[in-house]
Amino acid sequence: MRNASPIAVSRNCPPRRRAGWPSRSLNAVSEYQPPLDDIRFMMDEVADLGDITSADLFSHVDADTIHEVLTEVGRFMAEVVAPTNRDGDTIGSQWQPDGTVVTPDSFKGAYAKWVESGFGAMPFDPDYGGAGFPWISAIGVQEMLTSANMALSLCPLLTQGAIDAIHAHGSDEQKATYLPKMLTGEWAGTMNLTEPQAGSDVGAVTTKAEPDAEASARWGEGAYRITGQKIFITWGEQDFTDNIVHLVLARTPGSPPGTKGISMFLVPKFLLESDGSIGERNAATCVSIEHKLGIHGSPTCVMSYEGAIGWLVGGEHDGMRNMFTMMNNARLSVGLEGLCITERAYQDALQYAQERLQGRAIGAPAGTSSPIIEHPDVRRMLMTQRAWIDAMRALVYTNAAALDRAEAARTAGDADDARWWQERADLLIPLTKGLCTDVGNEMTSLAVQVHGGMGYVEETGVAQHYRDARIAAIYEGTNGIQAADLVGRKLAMRGGGVVSDLLDECEANAGAAEQVEGMDTFAARVRTAVADARTATDHLLKVGASDPRTLLGASVPYLRLLGTTVCAGLLAKAAVAADRRDDEFGAAKVVAARFFGEQILPTASGQLPAVLATSDDLYALTPTQL
Ligand SMILES: Cc1cc2nc3c(=O)[nH]c(=O)nc-3n(C[C@H](O)[C@H](O)[C@H](O)COP(=O)(O)OP(=O)(O)OC[C@H]3O[C@@H](n4cnc5c(N)ncnc54)[C@H](O)[C@@H]3O)c2cc1C
Repeated sequence: MRNASPIAVSRNCPPRRRAGWPSRSLNAVSEYQPPLDDIRFMMDEVADLGDITSADLFSHVDADTIHEVLTEVGRFMAEVVAPTNRDGDTIGSQWQPDGTVVTPDSFKGAYAKWVESGFGAMPFDPDYGGAGFPWISAIGVQEMLTSANMALSLCPLLTQGAIDAIHAHGSDEQKATYLPKMLTGEWAGTMNLTEPQAGSDVGAVTTKAEPDAEASARWGEGAYRITGQKIFITWGEQDFTDNIVHLVLARTPGSPPGTKGISMFLVPKFLLESDGSIGERNAATCVSIEHKLGIHGSPTCVMSYEGAIGWLVGGEHDGMRNMFTMMNNARLSVGLEGLCITERAYQDALQYAQERLQGRAIGAPAGTSSPIIEHPDVRRMLMTQRAWIDAMRALVYTNAAALDRAEAARTAGDADDARWWQERADLLIPLTKGLCTDVGNEMTSLAVQVHGGMGYVEETGVAQHYRDARIAAIYEGTNGIQAADLVGRKLAMRGGGVVSDLLDECEANAGAAEQVEGMDTFAARVRTAVADARTATDHLLKVGASDPRTLLGASVPYLRLLGTTVCAGLLAKAAVAADRRDDEFGAAKVVAARFFGEQILPTASGQLPAVLATSDDLYALTPTQL
């Protein structure tokens, strides 16, 4: 068992008055402007929201209604949630020796209003209180929630994952009992996979689940006693919901080793009486929380299950399969975090660069100081962030749209169409998760750089974004695991046909973008990147399973190459739509796409030699020589 100690060091950093710095650096509370126009543009023009809402499954809602709701969501996030972000960092969630976790007061207030708003129920089944909106609209809500407060957003995010799993695999009784309150957010959900010896290797889980007749008689048929320790459990304990529904991976007696022997259990913090009211406290306790680099507001809990009562979700030994059903949504949501935190950090950097005076811009009168935004290198940093934000947003919403289209086709009974869209979504998932979260780290670092020394000290608040962003590349399957999934499973789909279809579309989009004035070099760069991505893909398909070291050694550079190329292909589509608008917004989108194609995309093609290299040098040194 880990040391159970509360956070000892106060991170509180009172703002100080400093002469010569912009006022924003003094209050350390950044404002968040919901980028509603950008979200709408990417949803409508790149992810084809209109096509999604025209499917029978979503015929009760149209694109305008979704955007109206998102406008309300944006207001809510800016006014209610964003102001709590700093408290998460400076106050954090605090573990108490009685096993409770105290969250900042502002979190409790904002969460209560989130529950009141009903925004969390948007994409879910109307039978349980949802609105049955497409998933892409939920991604719009999540984008703004995460930018407003990433640490707090993880509580609804994990709840969403648990809802998905129970909805897909739970019994009718479990759905009726738990889903309505989870959809409103009155009850939260968690995912309990990780154990000290079982991180990336989930198959190494040892938590035990034993059938218990006495517990079944008192608390409901089919009860098990769960015993073991889970670590790193996000929002495993908190003080703002009436109950917490833990989904726990465990092994029943005599289970086969590895992932085949894992089952999923529903373990509520409070057991329920037969009338559904809250009963006794279950033996599931938070024995400590982690002290960590960022997202201090989100308690990362060590959970001890000491004969806790739980029930199977789905069949015995189906735990991993069940987990995979919700994995796509969860990985998409974590990929989204890379975009969200970049957006928030960019907004801070842009404002700072407009206010901070330093040096004389080229061509400015002698003896004057210019805002740093006038210096070419600061422009480069800001344009890089801005272009990546468009690229990531295009990728994330396109990925969500593919999931919706697959679901709509499944519901309509069109198996071929459903398979095609599901494969498209499955391919995009590791790209979204791996690329956006890596880029999130790079872009929040650039935002710190724009602030100079004031970025490194805590009072501007931008350092928080840099620290908060770091985790997204690690949890929900590290980015190394995403890359392995890409080359190990996704690349081989339809013998490489799924990748090939996507690259064909990128090429066609480049052809269309070439017709936009000033976009011929952009189009040529996209074609080059597509050709490089094809070369890399063909090479890895040939290497295949015959040389797993080379295949896996090339996986991360390949993910970067393919992901960046796909982003450029989507920005080509965006540029054509933006050009049609004939307004300032559209003109700015064309510029951002061009910058991406001409100044960022070529660095992706630079990954090709690394993809084509052998793994010889990776293993030329022994572990002791490394
Ligand atoms: C803040 C936070 C919140 C979290 N929330 C949750 C949660 O709510 N629920 C939950 O169950 N877990 C949660 N986790 C756990 C998280 O999912 C794991 O930390 C993550 O999966 C990595 O596992 P690990 O830490 O054991 O690293 P390891 O698996 O030890 O990996 C270490 C390094 O080795 C690499 N590696 C390992 N195996 C392979 C392989 N086969 N191929 C290539 N590279 C490999 C990894 O990519 C990584 O770079 C959380 C973790 C943190 C830090």
